Amino acid sequence: MTTHSSHSNSIDPHTSQRFYIDGQWVSPVIPASLPVVNPADETVVAQVARGSAADVDRAVAAARAAFAGWSATPAAVRAQVIGNIHALILERKEQLAQALSLEMGAAISFARAMQVPLAAEHVRVARDLLSSYPFQTVEGGTAIEREAIGVCGLITPWNWPLYQITAKVAPAIAAGCTVVLKPSELSPLSALLFAQLVHDAGLPPGVFNLVNGSGAEVGAAMAAHSDIDMISITGSNRAGALVAQAAAPTVKRVTQELGGKSPNILLPDADFAKAVPLGVMSAFRNVGQSCSAPTRMIVPKHRLAEVEALAAATVEAIVVGDPQSEDTVLGPIANEAQFNRVQAMIAAGLDEGAKLVCGGPGRVAGFDKGFYTRPTVFSEVQSGMRIAQEEIFGPVLCIIAYDSVDEAVAIANDTVYGLGAHVQGRDLELARAVASRIRAGQVHLNHPAWNPMAPFGGYKRSGNGREYGVQGFEEYLETKAIIGFGE
Ligand code: NAD
Repeated sequence: MTTHSSHSNSIDPHTSQRFYIDGQWVSPVIPASLPVVNPADETVVAQVARGSAADVDRAVAAARAAFAGWSATPAAVRAQVIGNIHALILERKEQLAQALSLEMGAAISFARAMQVPLAAEHVRVARDLLSSYPFQTVEGGTAIEREAIGVCGLITPWNWPLYQITAKVAPAIAAGCTVVLKPSELSPLSALLFAQLVHDAGLPPGVFNLVNGSGAEVGAAMAAHSDIDMISITGSNRAGALVAQAAAPTVKRVTQELGGKSPNILLPDADFAKAVPLGVMSAFRNVGQSCSAPTRMIVPKHRLAEVEALAAATVEAIVVGDPQSEDTVLGPIANEAQFNRVQAMIAAGLDEGAKLVCGGPGRVAGFDKGFYTRPTVFSEVQSGMRIAQEEIFGPVLCIIAYDSVDEAVAIANDTVYGLGAHVQGRDLELARAVASRIRAGQVHLNHPAWNPMAPFGGYKRSGNGREYGVQGFEEYLETKAIIGFGE
């Protein structure tokens, strides 16, 4: 790998080599750094400071010191500062989109249209909730008060870097909590811009703190920290389980947004000409690197050939390439480790005897550098195959055939995960009935628009707790009953 310092979006070394703690950019206690690699060309585009447990201690102390003041700040004042953060995200949207494209290979059009605006939506929702949320209710002489839980440790992944950050930070600080954020060490650049933005928005020192570094060092120190009250992690099941174990001795609240293997049932009366292309594009959105991507398309057996042809035609039209090109739909996979995992899963699908409809192993033709992965569709997939059971987290779709709707539901539920699910069908009553039988935290009927108020989270091994909207906000609250309150 070579160092590429001439990139027009170079990150300010003043901030990248520092952490944001107690309202200031500070150097790590033990000097160390981590390279950030642009997945489009495999060059190192920045070095970020690599934290240790000592940096976590400093950040937690700052958050603890700020908690009493921030949690007692009137909700309307908190809403005002959060409104400033929202306005600054919109003002700096191009800078944020460029950082996302650089750190994880997001196609620039996708970063502009999805990654940044959806991230801003979580902030707007948190701001708006503050004008109506009932922090105190009184019934039968007892008051129920909802109060900020305390200092929160927030650990985020690389696939939707800014979006995952705002989905945690915005409701946490809206609730009156103070936070320590550890973004993914693989895609930490948009987080640095976010920290500066939060500062410029006028958030008081110590309310938001950022420490970069690895999960094993910084993340583990946060999970075990005796002065952190709650940890919210989005990431792999492996990391989620390790966080829960490390957090157990101090009896923290732990919320986990983990993996998924979401089904997409095409009922016999679905509009296949529409449903198949939409299903393929949903599965491959963000290069398939979404926890709730509907990567198992479950279709009537007698329509299998038609579905395969529609899927192949859809893939044919997808432009994979340089994320900086306006025409690009899918950029590269976000990092080398993930590229290798996806390649191994494509090989596993071939080994297991699934039928390759399009795509396959290796890089996209014309690229000898960059983690460009061929959008791949397998058909005749059996539910027990590894490619149908394990999260691939890349542009790989499994088509599984069913004979009856009951069998389709059984296949949909034949997974340790339960994050997202989709159902397509013209008969809305039937689609609703199928939705009620699926064990997952979100079910989408006929590809509706994204709703930032809809709670998001997992059944089964996809996690514990919810994000977004009122339910996501309430994760950051404690409940106090005052009995004998009166009235
Ligand atoms: P990852 O588990 O490798 O890392 C996620 C975060 O956890 C990173 O910040 C990492 O440094 C940290 N971490 C790793 N080990 C840790 C430890 N022992 N203690 C504390 N922190 C630790 O995941 P990833 O590869 O960055 O992200 C992809 C995964 O995230 C996929 O499984 C995906 O499904 C999941 N994800 C879930 C959701 C959701 O909302 N359910 C959303 C996005 C991604």
